[in-house]
Amino acid sequence: MLRLITLISSLSAFLFLYSSEVMAAEEPTREQILEMRMDYYIKYSSVTLPWYYLAAVDQYERNIQQVRNDIPTREGVVAIQFSDDYWTGILNPEMNDIDITSIVLFDGNGADGNKDGYADRNNDDDVMYAMSEYLSRYGPTEKDFKRALKDYYHKDETIRQILTIAKIYKEFETINLDKNAFPLALQHNYSYRSTWGDRRGWGGRRMHEGTDLFASHGVPVKSTTYGMVETMGWNDYGGWRIGIRDMHNNYHYYAHLANYNKGIKEGDILEPGTVIGFVGSTGYGKKWTSGKFPPHLHYGIYKYNGRIEWAYDPFPSLKRWEQEERKAKKSK
Ligand SMILES: [Zn+2]
Repeated sequence: MLRLITLISSLSAFLFLYSSEVMAAEEPTREQILEMRMDYYIKYSSVTLPWYYLAAVDQYERNIQQVRNDIPTREGVVAIQFSDDYWTGILNPEMNDIDITSIVLFDGNGADGNKDGYADRNNDDDVMYAMSEYLSRYGPTEKDFKRALKDYYHKDETIRQILTIAKIYKEFETINLDKNAFPLALQHNYSYRSTWGDRRGWGGRRMHEGTDLFASHGVPVKSTTYGMVETMGWNDYGGWRIGIRDMHNNYHYYAHLANYNKGIKEGDILEPGTVIGFVGSTGYGKKWTSGKFPPHLHYGIYKYNGRIEWAYDPFPSLKRWEQEERKAKKSK
């Protein structure tokens, strides 16, 4: 009798799990999507093509589709998409050709990853296979990868952005990296308000592209994201400043620092919350100029869309990160 009850209860548990699995399949969570994506990267990687190269190209494509109106947003688990010319061949009269024989005949690059006999750009396997084929032609080194990107995208900024994403993924061995941090520790006194577009005090007529966070001299400044240190050093406007590029095509700019965290250098991969420097009032003059204004952190975010980089208002993000950290602290 007991065994029967055990059997029934485990059966109902199985049925319950099964039905929730089915429900989950209809509306995949963010984690499930990331897992499916990672499966594609692993599947189409090889000894000479690491998964994080494929992942970086895919993430870059996703980033630009989110901010560009002239390119379609690809439906699917992966975002990589190819032009008609690239996929079917320049002289192919059938722009949506999925027939491998004629694609090959017209020198197209369309590929059949899921082995169903068609090279279909709506199929995630097919696009992943085509991209892995393309990148593999160049060879196994980072230099080869750069050459492949140069031939494909033609722009140095794009190559730099994709390499940064690849390095971040490689370092953390995951693509699940969407955590953020507020740039100042919450226990310090600080104040900030939306100053987007205000007139600036120095350097002619420039619009204020960022948020000023006022705090005492020496308060630690933290990276808000996962990213790579792209720029460090003196700038006549920003004083001692640091620029960090993340995997969403954003360049985070921290200015007027008193000094840097000595343990950090250009090319380093950071995570959110890592101390990068300390609040100061440097800038508005030649090297070491300081004290021309009250100490504060100037924080700006610039977005690269594959063509240009432009500043957007970081104030809403700062508010959100601050609130998230407050909440996390309370629940501890
Ligand atoms: Zn400022």
